[in-house]
Amino acid sequence: MQKEADMDQLHKFIQICQRHRLKITPQRVAIYQNLLGMNTHPTADAVYQILRKEYPHISFDAVNRTLLTFTEIGVSDVVEIFSGAKRFDTDLTPHHHLHCLKCGNVYDFHSETYDNLTVPKGIQQQFQVVSKRVILKGFCRKCQNENPQKRSETAESRGG
Ligand SMILES: [Zn+2]
Ligand SMILES: [Zn+2]
Repeated sequence: MQKEADMDQLHKFIQICQRHRLKITPQRVAIYQNLLGMNTHPTADAVYQILRKEYPHISFDAVNRTLLTFTEIGVSDVVEIFSGAKRFDTDLTPHHHLHCLKCGNVYDFHSETYDNLTVPKGIQQQFQVVSKRVILKGFCRKCQNENPQKRSETAESRGG
């Protein structure tokens, strides 16, 4: 079952595909819908693993190429990742990211304060800024729970 907002985005997706003369195949729609439904900014492989259950003959290459095409026509974005596989984002509205250093997941968050950050003057002269995003790095709740911090042990072993 689809949320109304998702249906709206699907409708926009189809319009953009048409504008770019991109054939709307069931696979492309399925890839887009799955991408919409995953809020962890999945890698091409994660999307492929889900898609192949529905389309056993689809190849990783086809999924990967489709995701890159989506980015080219502007229906999704590639997340700023400095190592490892590309991750994809269907939320094109201004938002910011939390990068978990352990599981590698990227979570969205919203902040008007961050949206309104101004670019320093010196930067404006040498670099044409087209978008801004704040990235916070750390550990997500799940990873914090898996890895309880041993505070007391290290602190108390000193002395003598
Ligand atoms: Zn994590
Ligand atoms: Zn995002």
